[in-house]
Amino acid sequence: MSVQQEAGTGGEALEVWIDQDLCTGDGICAQYAPEVFELDIDGLAYVKGADAEMLQAPGATTPVPLPLLTDVVDSARECPGECIHVRRVSDRVEVYGPDAE
Ligand code: SF4
Repeated sequence: MSVQQEAGTGGEALEVWIDQDLCTGDGICAQYAPEVFELDIDGLAYVKGADAEMLQAPGATTPVPLPLLTDVVDSARECPGECIHVRRVSDRVEVYGPDAE
């Protein structure tokens, strides 16, 4: 079963954000999906915007490209800080991460 079928996201647009207050700085997310996550010199992970700049505003989100969905979901599952949140753009419901049902 694909990740999308499992979550019932049905190809809906998803976005991801990181709660830096809980980030341990281990870098797992940046290893899994370097196109989406990056560690800053402050030792915390941030999501990256369309032109690959780090988005450092609290709660900043970035779209999850479909080809990277599995990598992003794996990051959320493996994140030791439980601080990677993947949600639907349409209703902001979390579909992967600590607050997903
Ligand atoms: S996997 Fe989680 S805890 Fe580790 S660097 Fe990424 S956001 Fe931080």
